[in-house]
Amino acid sequence: MLLPLRRDQTTMSEVLTPSASGANRASSAKDPYVTKAKVYLVGRQTLDREALDRFLADEGAQFSTDTPVAAEVLAETAGRVCYMSFGKGRKSNREYVENILQSKHGSVLEHAVWCFLIAGVSRSLTHELVRHRAGFGFSQLSQRYVDEGEAQYVVPPLYQENEKLRAQWQQAIDAARKAYRELAEATAAYVQEKHPEMASRDRRKWARQAARSILPNACETKIFVTANSRAWRHFLELRGSPHAETEIRLLAVEIGRVLRNESPSIFQDIEIYDESDGLPAVRVSHSKV
Ligand SMILES: Cc1cc2nc3c(=O)[nH]c(=O)nc-3n(C[C@H](O)[C@H](O)[C@H](O)COP(=O)(O)OP(=O)(O)OC[C@H]3O[C@@H](n4cnc5c(N)ncnc54)[C@H](O)[C@@H]3O)c2cc1C
Repeated sequence: MLLPLRRDQTTMSEVLTPSASGANRASSAKDPYVTKAKVYLVGRQTLDREALDRFLADEGAQFSTDTPVAAEVLAETAGRVCYMSFGKGRKSNREYVENILQSKHGSVLEHAVWCFLIAGVSRSLTHELVRHRAGFGFSQLSQRYVDEGEAQYVVPPLYQENEKLRAQWQQAIDAARKAYRELAEATAAYVQEKHPEMASRDRRKWARQAARSILPNACETKIFVTANSRAWRHFLELRGSPHAETEIRLLAVEIGRVLRNESPSIFQDIEIYDESDGLPAVRVSHSKV
């Protein structure tokens, strides 16, 4: 499914750090505090032009479009199948998709899909993210399998601008980190005593699943998110809005930037602007397509 990158397409995959070995967080000398999400676009679609040409030949139809973006060709093809309008009507893909957006023929946009790996976000952010049900798939770091003793913590944007509040916040986080480590160790010893027959991997899982109950919402996490463009548009509209929580809003702005670059047709009406509260936000002209 992965295409070589076009030069103008952004990815951060080259800065991916080696994954944590086994079920431990990477314990290299990382700053224990994170101030910015990392967004890696790791998957986009390809078009099988030969298969499409076979279909067109079988139907006695002809079709070409002006976009190099596979996802946009696929969405346009899906739309044209509905009316068998190949070779007719609107000439450019941008014009074609604009009509889809205007008429809210949104199911056509479900054929265009992008996959993101997101790191450096808090569990409270992902709790909001996974509320998006339609058209989304998620795979998230497990706090049962992965030891959170070395976890990083995401500094809420408001505490990034106020030294005194940040110090107070950091003190609370440091206490929680210490409490988690001590509790996880004590719980592991208790489980070992109670269930000596248990495999060590299961004992660790039992200990972590109990001890994680005291981890703060700010605990850093990683999540793999795949969604179709109709779903991404809805996410950008709701979560890029000034009404959204700040951390997820800044993530939506970042994803909005990447997707606009990926697909200038499908995301043609997504505007990133500076809101009066001093932060960027997302505005869409075609709401909930
Ligand atoms: C600013 C803000 C504040 C929020 N505050 C809270 C809060 O205080 N508490 C809270 O619990 N949540 C809160 N939410 C989450 C919100 O209620 C939604 O769960 C979340 O935004 C996902 O939106 P969605 O359901 O439209 O998305 P999706 O689940 O992706 O659904 C997309 C669309 O599909 C349709 N759809 C999906 N499922 C169904 C269904 N079962 N029946 C009918 N139609 C369906 C709807 O049209 C829906 O808009 C908040 C969201 C925002 C943006």
